[in-house]
Amino acid sequence: MDVTHSNYPPSSAFRWLKCPASVLLEPDGIERDTTAADEGTLAHRICELKLTRDVWNDNEEELEECRANLLYKEEMEFYTDEYYKFIKNFDADPIVETKLNLSKYMPGLFGTCDCIAYEAYRNELQIVDFKYGFGKVEARENPQLRFYALGALDYILKNNPDINLKDIRITTTIFQPRIHHVDSETLTYQKLNSWYKSIKPAIKKITTQQVERNTGSWCKWCDRQIHCKEYQEELSNVYINDFFSLSDDEIAQNYEKLKEIEPLIKKMREYLVKQLQNGSTVKGYKLQQVNSKSWTDKDAVTQIAKEHELVNTMSPSQAQRKLGKKQFEELLGDYVEIKPGSPKLVKEKG
Ligand code: SF4
Repeated sequence: MDVTHSNYPPSSAFRWLKCPASVLLEPDGIERDTTAADEGTLAHRICELKLTRDVWNDNEEELEECRANLLYKEEMEFYTDEYYKFIKNFDADPIVETKLNLSKYMPGLFGTCDCIAYEAYRNELQIVDFKYGFGKVEARENPQLRFYALGALDYILKNNPDINLKDIRITTTIFQPRIHHVDSETLTYQKLNSWYKSIKPAIKKITTQQVERNTGSWCKWCDRQIHCKEYQEELSNVYINDFFSLSDDEIAQNYEKLKEIEPLIKKMREYLVKQLQNGSTVKGYKLQQVNSKSWTDKDAVTQIAKEHELVNTMSPSQAQRKLGKKQFEELLGDYVEIKPGSPKLVKEKG
């Protein structure tokens, strides 16, 4: 069992609280580009090291290791310093990167909270989530932060059992330095608990394995799209009002919806290629090995292109289409390198 990743990631709670199927169905298994996530992990590590420096340990060795990472960029220093200053402004020592056991609220739920700080004199609990991405995240009604608030409160109460819960202020904050976005929500203990009560039916659906699918804006980020009939129906069911011709506003409205189809089709194609590569049969489709062609001597090709009034930025395939096979071979055949490319999904004939 992978103990570092929750089956119910708190960061996706906005989706699984709406759609139980998004965590109950098997993921589609399409490999995703994790560069942004890895960059975020590195930035989080730098934040942690800066915040935990003290007179005994300046964490410089570990920071240098981070700086040697291929994903490291100079600008990370500025953004993590901004976060450092924000956290150091609290009137309490921050507790950073705390693993919170949230199984009391939902079996199997846990998460890592970037920063917890209890300001005793104000009776205020601060919960901060550092986000390194560009997609704006709001703190208001954010279930990830509210789950962290529940867990952080339990965590703090262990050492401070006398905290006055009737008057406590619980402030959750999203800190997104790359888009200069800092957003907070302040709750009372009562409000936090009544929110938790309100989501109990959604949690029950998951814990009792009710594979209910509910489409909505959250589908965009779901890794179960390929097998989800509801999502695909929803995308193809575009709004058409005018019998004769769509207005520009209607086209824009349809575009908004249909543009999600493009990434979905790409994922479907990748999925089918993977299935065929693994030996499965996919009715009506097969794989075709497509060779990729490139120039071996661009200067020579540019010279020939000039002499024959061709655009010299043409790829070998474009040049062959333009000149025809025979002339292409005569003029440029010696400057082409053929390498096996990735397999392509093609329709079977007949
Ligand atoms: S694509 Fe949407 S409806 Fe389908 S499982 Fe995912 S979140 Fe649910």
